[in-house]
Amino acid sequence: MSEDANPFESLQEQIDDAAEHIDVGADVLERLKNPERVLETNLSVELDDDSVGVFRAYRSQFNGDRGPYKGGIRYHPGVTRDEVKALSGWMVYKCAVVDIPYGGGKGGIVIDPAGYSDSELERITRAFGTELRPLIGEDRDIPAPDVNTGQQEMNWIKDTYETLENTTEPGVVTGKAIESGGSLGRVEATGRSTMITAREAFDYFGKDLPGASVAVQGYGNAGSIAARLLDAELGANVVAVSDSSGAIYDPSGLDPGAVKAFKNETGSVAGYDDAAEELTNDELLTLDVDLLVPAALENAIDEDLAHEVGADIVVEAANGPLTPKADDVLTDRDVHVFPDILANAGGVTVSYFEWVQNRQRFYWTEERVNEELERHIVEAFDGLVECYEEHDLPNFRTAAYVVAIQRVLDAYEEGGTWP
Ligand code: GLU
Repeated sequence: MSEDANPFESLQEQIDDAAEHIDVGADVLERLKNPERVLETNLSVELDDDSVGVFRAYRSQFNGDRGPYKGGIRYHPGVTRDEVKALSGWMVYKCAVVDIPYGGGKGGIVIDPAGYSDSELERITRAFGTELRPLIGEDRDIPAPDVNTGQQEMNWIKDTYETLENTTEPGVVTGKAIESGGSLGRVEATGRSTMITAREAFDYFGKDLPGASVAVQGYGNAGSIAARLLDAELGANVVAVSDSSGAIYDPSGLDPGAVKAFKNETGSVAGYDDAAEELTNDELLTLDVDLLVPAALENAIDEDLAHEVGADIVVEAANGPLTPKADDVLTDRDVHVFPDILANAGGVTVSYFEWVQNRQRFYWTEERVNEELERHIVEAFDGLVECYEEHDLPNFRTAAYVVAIQRVLDAYEEGGTWP
């Protein structure tokens, strides 16, 4: 990677690009480009060897015009204040694109969780939950899983909050285990929205997804489930997948479920099956395939790599996988990119369903969850395409931001500024 774009600057550039097509003043635009507040804290936690570990952690509440702040918490050594700010902004526009009644937030701890025991991770998570307590709540700010966090961390945060508040409030976090008030379908929701977006995109361009070749970069929750659903539900041919250890490629097609089982066992996809060729991540990203799904971290594709991308359609399962310059190159090259704020919005959409179920203390079948998710993503896709065509926009990302920013603006204008 030759260029290391600052994700917060990328977000601001994306908003500026869309603002050219919206009637909005520079003053109000400034609100839309910056978080309302950011918590920065240092968690002191006793480690197993009796030493004290100090972990920097953040929570950014970007915008609450459309509802409570909403967004995940990430555990990663590369977490920075600007990254969390960017991710919280992307949540605002993601929730607006799929029209769910939330603002946006995001949190993170600077940590490589692989280096800590389960009991250390529990103490670290509960320490963060204690810091978050005054800021969160089912009507204030609702955390969820993100990179390297999942049901376990959410259950701990819920328990910490409920214990300190002396209440039961399962809707204070989403992405919980079913036993703790989670929703059926939540674990696979992000990958499912990526699959639905790819299906609608291929349909829009009159291309066949059954038999189409697919490369997936990143094999965590989003990437592995998108690969499995593209293969199992749509008959696509997943020829290459990768994780941080490297990539594997088999032009006759991989079995996404078997690769996931191998990764669960060995910790990586590298080394899977003798028939598969080993590639680097950059080689995977430039394969001549019909569909490319970046599903890892920000800035996976920079300007140089964008010139080499071989796919015709890119569907972003990760948040912010393209630098703004890469985005420009792909637009110029007529490679159609379906943006993160639509393609991975299934996660937060089913978080919304989980929160609705928590508040009603009434739980849905998985079939109902998936039907409602399908409806939200397809309606959002159609709205985005309509905006793209009507305003003759350069790409689908700009269309998504035009739709989303307009919705946030409408909510803001109804409420006004106080005092
Ligand atoms: N971390 C996920 C995202 O980036 C899900 C957020 C949520 O469910 O609130 O969209």
